[in-house]
Amino acid sequence: CLRPMLAPHLYEYMRELGRLLLRPIRFFEVGPCFRKESESARHAGEFTMLNLVEMGLPDGLDKKARLLEIGGKILDAAGIKDWRMESEESAVYGDTLDFTDAAGLELASAAMGPLPMDAAWGITDDWLGVGFGLERLTMTALNEPCLAKTARSFTHLDGIGLRL
Ligand code: ATP
Ligand code: MG
Repeated sequence: CLRPMLAPHLYEYMRELGRLLLRPIRFFEVGPCFRKESESARHAGEFTMLNLVEMGLPDGLDKKARLLEIGGKILDAAGIKDWRMESEESAVYGDTLDFTDAAGLELASAAMGPLPMDAAWGITDDWLGVGFGLERLTMTALNEPCLAKTARSFTHLDGIGLRL
């Protein structure tokens, strides 16, 4: 079925992998996200998210600094220049951190737990995670003004309509 985002899936992984004794546990996934959005130069109804999660963190770890380190690795590997990390408020995740490009476009959001909802999902570990929109990352890396050029599509190739 189509779901609004991958987070419930991540919680499932966290619970399943959390049965291992090893700590910390680190995992990532790349997958399609479907959202009911008004489509625009920055929003598609279907896009691709790269999620990275670390759980069972060492005591006293500076989570914000660790997120900066992980996010920075991805942004540097993608060749993004002059990115920034900013604090944001989220209805679901409380305090979040956003990674933006030089023009202020959001490339990723990061969150930290435990959160009040975690116990109901069987999650008891401290965790941190960040989700990058891969089309937005590519858009900024290639200096494209519009997401459609970097999104997968059956109707367009490199932004050109296939109904010729
Ligand atoms: P925005 O505020 O730009 O609508 P968001 O805060 O709702 O984004 P998140 O839930 O934080 O998005 O999703 C993580 C990342 O996925 C975003 O930082 C962005 O890169 C990407 N993303 C989110 N929604 C879309 C979309 N509709 N189309 C393309 N990429 C998206
Ligand atoms: Mg966000």
